[in-house]
Amino acid sequence: MHYKQVYLSLGSNIGLKEENIKRALKLLDDDKNVKVVHTSSFYETKPWGYINQPDFYNCVSQINTNYEPAGLLRLIQTIETKMGRKRDKKWGPRIIDIDIILFENIILNTEDLTIPHPWMEKRAFVLLPLMELNKEIVHPISKRGIAELVEAVGGEELKEIRRAV
Ligand code: ADP
Ligand code: MG
Repeated sequence: MHYKQVYLSLGSNIGLKEENIKRALKLLDDDKNVKVVHTSSFYETKPWGYINQPDFYNCVSQINTNYEPAGLLRLIQTIETKMGRKRDKKWGPRIIDIDIILFENIILNTEDLTIPHPWMEKRAFVLLPLMELNKEIVHPISKRGIAELVEAVGGEELKEIRRAV
């Protein structure tokens, strides 16, 4: 009965980045209300926002869940804390970051949670793995298709990202 379709973005730029993301996915899947269904390739990306820090590993996973958005955010934050995430510098280095990108087709704006994720249309490291998982995705607010969104982020952003082997 894991019935709501959600896309999560996962990123890490401290320590064993690939292992950190895999551990987070295992912890998500271990929750009885979450099933990790598909995970994209891992991408190596230049830092965004605050650029003087190590490169990131990023991926997107499609999960099925029984949680409401607020409950899923609580689980995500519990996992981040369990993995040693410190909340200090915004957009600074982190062992793990898990963001809710899309939650079904809902549009939500609360103090704690903005869905779709406010930066998703600007971030190649979210859009490319999202398109890898599902070419039919349409942004619930702008109504733009995923291929159009990838095209719109443009060359410079896309140059900063490559598939990690
Ligand atoms: P960031 O991901 O922006 O680098 P954090 O992971 O520390 O930073 O998240 C900061 C806050 O963003 C969280 O406390 C959470 O309440 C809020 N937030 C708002 N929308 C979302 C979303 N779609 N997914 C995850 N967190 C979100
Ligand atoms: Mg986050």
